[in-house]
Amino acid sequence: MLNKKSVDDINVKGKKVLVRCDFNVPLKDGKITDENRLVAALPTIKKLIADGGKVILCSHLGKPKGEPKPEMSLAPVAVRLSELLGQEVKFAADNNVVGENAKAAVAAMKDGDVVLLENTRYRVEETKNGEAFSKELASLCDVFVNDAFGTAHRAHCSNVGVTEFVDTSVVGYLMQKEIDFLGNAVNNPQRPFVAILGGAKVADKLNVISNLLEKCDTLIIGGGMAYTFLKAKGLEVGTSLVDDTKIDYCKEMMEKAEKLGKKLLLPIDTTIAKAFPDPIDAEIEISVVKSDAIPADMMGLDIGTETAALYADAVKSAKTVVWNGPMGVFENPILAKGTIAVAKSLAETDATTIIGGGDSAAAVNQLGFGDKMTHISTGGGASLEFLEGKDLPGVVAADDK
Ligand code: ATP
Repeated sequence: MLNKKSVDDINVKGKKVLVRCDFNVPLKDGKITDENRLVAALPTIKKLIADGGKVILCSHLGKPKGEPKPEMSLAPVAVRLSELLGQEVKFAADNNVVGENAKAAVAAMKDGDVVLLENTRYRVEETKNGEAFSKELASLCDVFVNDAFGTAHRAHCSNVGVTEFVDTSVVGYLMQKEIDFLGNAVNNPQRPFVAILGGAKVADKLNVISNLLEKCDTLIIGGGMAYTFLKAKGLEVGTSLVDDTKIDYCKEMMEKAEKLGKKLLLPIDTTIAKAFPDPIDAEIEISVVKSDAIPADMMGLDIGTETAALYADAVKSAKTVVWNGPMGVFENPILAKGTIAVAKSLAETDATTIIGGGDSAAAVNQLGFGDKMTHISTGGGASLEFLEGKDLPGVVAADDK
């Protein structure tokens, strides 16, 4: 369990509370196209309003790189949040984020009021964790709450720097939920614990593979990264995605699994085609071959049917499943079968099922299995670093219990 103080451990009545949220939502023509992150932030905001705090919200949106960019303003978020909360969220339009306008808006707040500051990345110091901007943010509040899991793996002014200049820093409900679910799954799992890793490249997930191998009972590998493992076993992988610099690493991981007595499952068959689909959802001619029979001029683009059954079977006997990364090029319906089979097996089990953000979260939601999972992380990069066993600076910075 997370040993950090949370919003349940403080009294915010009459206090100015700065809340770092993750309002990094997709926008199209000024309209929010996916409001999941806004909805996920509501429990903490509602709690602070109910307790009589003066709630000052902040977040980044996109990458304005230290310059005011109107298309990345948080103004549309204030409008939608007002509707979701059923009370006004006053937008403190201010190119300096903590400029005269923001200060005036905060000074005018009554208990239970909500103000939203402008995009913190309008300030170039934000991503450099600069002291001056951290102090400016801190000057607005008595208490700081970090509820932005999506940026917890970064040390920026608005989630880490600010905590040095505020007496009380705690985590919000969303942050707590993410850490509790991911933390319990990885560090205190009900066994058997099955970890499933997919996605494009082995190189992106070196530390995740190594760390999960120590924690889990069975590690399942799919997606593009599987072919480097198959090549490391001495198999022909044709023109499949391979990272030749990571062959030795894969050999090491297979030895590590053996030494630790862990099961490491690799595809026993694979779906192949002549080339990568172009465009990605183009109709494509495929066949399924055993993993030791990939022709030299063919490319592996999904796990095969027998592998899908094998992986689904491993999930069936698990009590905890953590999944990150698709099993194939799931953006193409013809090559999504492996990813769908795995998603379905997770949807059908009673085990605790945790999806580690990013593409796998998108895949699970797209396929309509979202509400069947125990927890879908809101942070791709942050959840991956968590699975690597790293400390997240945004979490470390909060006060201990
Ligand atoms: P995130 O880091 O955002 O969580 P992810 O870990 O879920 O993402 P990535 O490592 O980004 O996944 O890889 C996902 C991509 O891998 C998808 O676009 C998918 O098409 C591609 N992919 C999966 N299998 C293969 C394959 N066999 N060959 C080439 N690309 C593949």
